[in-house]
Amino acid sequence: MTIYDALIVGAGAAGLAAGRILHDAGRSILMLEARDRIGGRIHTDYDFAVIPIEFGAEFIHGDRAVTVDLVKSAGLHTLPVVRLGNLRWSDGVNPALPLARLPDQLRQTLTGLLQAYDQLSEAHLPQDVSLADYLRGRGWTGDTLTAADVLLAQTCCASIETLSCHDLIREMKADTVGHGESRIREGYGRLLDWYRTDYSIHFNSLVQEIQWGDGDVRVISNGQVYRAKTCIITIPVSLLQNDTIRFTPALPPDKIWAISAFRMEAATKLIYRFRERLWDDNLTFMAHAGLTARWWTPSYGRNEDAIIACYITAERAQKLDVMDKAGALEMGLQELSTLLDIPLNELSKTTIASKRLTWAADPLALGGYAHVPPGMAECRPLLARPEGNQLFFAGEATAYDTNPQTVHGAIESGWRAARECLAVL
Ligand SMILES: Cc1cc2nc3c(=O)[nH]c(=O)nc-3n(C[C@H](O)[C@H](O)[C@H](O)COP(=O)(O)OP(=O)(O)OC[C@H]3O[C@@H](n4cnc5c(N)ncnc54)[C@H](O)[C@@H]3O)c2cc1C
Repeated sequence: MTIYDALIVGAGAAGLAAGRILHDAGRSILMLEARDRIGGRIHTDYDFAVIPIEFGAEFIHGDRAVTVDLVKSAGLHTLPVVRLGNLRWSDGVNPALPLARLPDQLRQTLTGLLQAYDQLSEAHLPQDVSLADYLRGRGWTGDTLTAADVLLAQTCCASIETLSCHDLIREMKADTVGHGESRIREGYGRLLDWYRTDYSIHFNSLVQEIQWGDGDVRVISNGQVYRAKTCIITIPVSLLQNDTIRFTPALPPDKIWAISAFRMEAATKLIYRFRERLWDDNLTFMAHAGLTARWWTPSYGRNEDAIIACYITAERAQKLDVMDKAGALEMGLQELSTLLDIPLNELSKTTIASKRLTWAADPLALGGYAHVPPGMAECRPLLARPEGNQLFFAGEATAYDTNPQTVHGAIESGWRAARECLAVL
């Protein structure tokens, strides 16, 4: 029986990154992936529209994110986009307007809120608190907190009440990639196709058990036993919480605590394709306090298509997820009609296709991406800690020294785990 240098569980961004490093170092590896495709929470669709549509991760966050260099090396292209800096806000009755055209008080509130968030990185908080409590402490209440939930917490796939300030501060300090954002013209999928190299991946291979601690690591999937000196585990922390994989012997108690400390909330996209563009060329980001709180334009900067998408998370996403698909898509169009100031029947008439993506219902994701509640900020480095020179942990949730919740954070976590693994091999 082959004894690999490393088995890698999961072929998402973190697994592929770890695989690339180990393969380039001449190590024998095998990747086991439960889906029939690579990418995990990156899933580019090439059928829904003329342009590639991102069902999962869409943006590169940061002009110096490692993904920017990878895109260049792959011969692909980024399409820069300004979102928060080009925000249009609606009060739910009037259409979404640029900040400059909002009533003075509302504009000052929204800009003050974004500044308060930026200042969080300098805050000295002896006790960890939620982002909501931090903002309350600075005098923000009521509707302002709702706006903060939409503009800040929704991005983190969390409620403002459950986001740890200590974890956010740690991330802000580790974040050296800048604030510029972009999409990949050819889609994230093409980047991963290029990044994946010629090691073996066994698809449709759900790992059910990992035996470790004594001799080789044994990984059991579909009744088959694979053996290796080491194993890199990259599955979403929500699946570790769910005991998808049985560890024999059990992981140490502090690792089990770290796993249970994370929260993974729902993440849902509603995507609409129109016969023609019904908005102006500069529209990149609209938000409001309604159910479909945040909207953007995947076809921004391109002429081939007219696509608009709503991306919501946490409680709002849960509410949309329990509706039937047609009802959820109709609700999206209704709120979009107010935001764009276009009658609903006109929007409906020009809709060619629409799609709902519910990541909470995906059994191999069970939500969007993980966040850390107040008092639990230690869980990230603990989850990332190798166990017994045999088990190594990667994945967005483990990215304590970079940007968790992102593709580039997942990639960097894969590189870190691969380096740790190489050090013992
Ligand atoms: C809707 C949505 C929008 C997002 N938007 C952005 C964005 O704009 N920009 C950004 O940077 N990030 C975004 N993200 C986050 C980003 O997608 C993730 O941080 C990143 O892709 C996670 O990569 P990963 O390798 O850690 O995990 P995953 O991609 O989840 O990979 C883990 C892999 O493990 C597999 N697996 C699970 N269990 C098992 C098992 N038992 N056996 C074998 N295989 C298993 C899964 O199928 C999966 O392929 C978004 C995420 C979502 C869901």
